[in-house]
Amino acid sequence: MATERTLSIIKPDAVAKNAIGDIIARFEKAGLNVVAAKMVHLSEEKAGGFYAEHKERPFFKDLVGFMTSGPVVVQVLEGEGAIAKNRELMGATNPKEAAPGTIRADFAETIDANAVHGSDSAESAAREISYFFGNDEICPR
Ligand code: ADP
Ligand code: MG
Repeated sequence: MATERTLSIIKPDAVAKNAIGDIIARFEKAGLNVVAAKMVHLSEEKAGGFYAEHKERPFFKDLVGFMTSGPVVVQVLEGEGAIAKNRELMGATNPKEAAPGTIRADFAETIDANAVHGSDSAESAAREISYFFGNDEICPR
């Protein structure tokens, strides 16, 4: 499998729980390297643009409200099959359906505050990475 990059966001609920370190440790232990990272408090415009694909969904307004409710930690993860590996570590969107031992099973309780975001395809990863990071902010290792 090829080396890939994916975008990960530790969402406001997990930051508020002081779970940043525990979550990043899971990535590192699974062989995903952090090659870029920053903490930001998203504006409505930035969060809305990030989730533009969900604009027409009934939960869009709440999603943007939640994502702007506190700081997040945005990272680029790099490794073999990074996109699928990260989705596997995250678990299902609804924490109640997430497999035991996944990040969402262990750190989230509800579908709207579900601890982490991860790109779902190579196309999303490319768009999402460039949405947050310039090439000069990514440090290949
Ligand atoms: P994922 O984050 O697993 O890729 P989606 O891309 O489908 O999931 O949705 C983006 C985010 O929108 C989810 O992580 C979740 O926070 C929120 N969301 C999705 N579906 C719902 C829903 N039915 N009700 C409330 N929030 C939702
Ligand atoms: Mg998604």
